[in-house]
Amino acid sequence: MAIIGIDLGTTNSLAAQYTSEGVKFLRNSSGNALIPSVVGLDDEGNLIVGEVAKERLITHPDLTVSEFKRTMGTDLLYELGSQKYTSQQLSSILLKKIVADAKEIIGEEIEEVIISVPAYFDERMRTATKQAAELAGIKCERLINEPSAAALAYLHKHEWKDGTYMVVDFGGGTLDVSIIDSFDSIMEIIAVAGNNQLGGKDFNEAIYNHFCVSNGLNSEDLTPEQQAIIYRMAEATKIALSTNAIANMTVVINEEKYSLTMDNNELIKIAHDVFEKIVVPIKKVLKDSRLKPSDLEAIVLVGGSCKMPTVAAFIEDVTGVKPSTDINPDTAIAVGAGVYTGIKAKNQELKDIVMTDICPFSLGVGARDDNKEISMSFIIERNSMLPCSVSRDYYAVKDRQTEVNFKIYQGESIIPENNIFLGEMKISCPPTREHEFVATVRMTYDINGILIVDLTNREKQTVSKVMLDKKVHLSEKEIEQIKGKLDKLRFSENKDEEEQLLISKTERMIEETMGFDRERFIEALERFKFIMKNGNTIEKRKAKEFLSNLLDQYEE
Ligand code: ADP
Ligand code: MG
Repeated sequence: MAIIGIDLGTTNSLAAQYTSEGVKFLRNSSGNALIPSVVGLDDEGNLIVGEVAKERLITHPDLTVSEFKRTMGTDLLYELGSQKYTSQQLSSILLKKIVADAKEIIGEEIEEVIISVPAYFDERMRTATKQAAELAGIKCERLINEPSAAALAYLHKHEWKDGTYMVVDFGGGTLDVSIIDSFDSIMEIIAVAGNNQLGGKDFNEAIYNHFCVSNGLNSEDLTPEQQAIIYRMAEATKIALSTNAIANMTVVINEEKYSLTMDNNELIKIAHDVFEKIVVPIKKVLKDSRLKPSDLEAIVLVGGSCKMPTVAAFIEDVTGVKPSTDINPDTAIAVGAGVYTGIKAKNQELKDIVMTDICPFSLGVGARDDNKEISMSFIIERNSMLPCSVSRDYYAVKDRQTEVNFKIYQGESIIPENNIFLGEMKISCPPTREHEFVATVRMTYDINGILIVDLTNREKQTVSKVMLDKKVHLSEKEIEQIKGKLDKLRFSENKDEEEQLLISKTERMIEETMGFDRERFIEALERFKFIMKNGNTIEKRKAKEFLSNLLDQYEE
């Protein structure tokens, strides 16, 4: 029985395991470590996940979904063939596949998973994530904040060197910045801030729009397929600019070629609002933790978007500190989640490491303020260390009050309704006069994200309740129902993922090219399918090599 760590990303996911030789990635059968977080159906209506599905985003947009993590914990539905699924259900499908692959690689049952989530995920998003695992039939008690995971990866590599660190995690759809302290093997998160609507996607969109404007194209006149092709090329251009001074973007639309040449200066110009938004959480964590950049031992960059030299330079500009580049931004979080499984399993080499976590949001109750208006009374404040337990006393708002009612919220707004409503509790009390003590509210929030609220009145009677966000917390019955729906879906039987991937890639190429190139891909695909059906093992291997080379040549 094994425990594995999973970086369940917006864009890419990756599983890792802690072994006596260190952290091992659980690569899928096509040999790739990163698994695109994409779910789709193949032509027979069977599930496909990861790279194969990602390749079909353009050719089969109605049968493929991506970036669903952005709406985790909401009721938003994604259409996939004739059915509709929530982000949680799609994540569950993705997790099922990751765990099935991991089981095959390790050769052991997976007993439990630890999933990383953005520190900025609220209670609703966290519960939805855990239940996504439950829907996939996988045990998940513990989540780890992505920045904590990144810090674990960094400190694991640097032998738990003492100091205060800033972790900037800039992925496809989220930005998380955090401050982490490490002293005597005790790791402590001091502050977190972020923006869960900012990521590499925003650069892609900026390039997409720039491309359309420069070429006199109106995005609204384009088909979804054409839009998807431009979008893909926009992302490729952004990635090319991470290693080249200049990048060229060419897209064929209705048999006509459109191009754009750009450099990093241009990128900074067209995406200046994205850069401006990066500063906000960086300033916020420094302010929250009362630190100056010079107090930092290192700034650790993780997430695919930190591979952009413009982003790294920008962060250096803002902080005056040159960020460290010695951990791989793509895999750091999975490594950290893997290290954490080792800590949780009390592995010998990690037995002295203690990791604490913080509450990324505030918790409190709605209470009447001095102006008799209901406003938030914060009990556990954002960035409090977990586990924690805090209590506050409340006083009668009128004479002869015999009962008090508390509405419990999570969030930072002074106006309770702007926060997430978690539930309501009441307790009776002996009749009191206005301003006299009526009850104590104690909130206890643990490292697994479980909130317990106790109300105690003057007679020392107590009522307790585990607070769950009802909007997202599913009952046993609901879980069984959704499981039933998901279990009906079969994973594609085609075991040969390499073959599937080559076919999807070639189909995409046929869509993206024209004229001679297109003819070449059509011919190659027909030939390939024929050999896969009729050839012997050697012929099949050769055909795969041939097609794979052809695709590589073209993509270069
Ligand atoms: P997530 O945590 O959201 O799953 P990742 O950390 O894997 O995301 O980052 C994905 C984002 O990183 C995408 O927007 C992708 O375009 C971008 N990205 C990946 N590699 C590069 C690169 N070499 N240069 C620029 N951006 C990159
Ligand atoms: Mg990530």
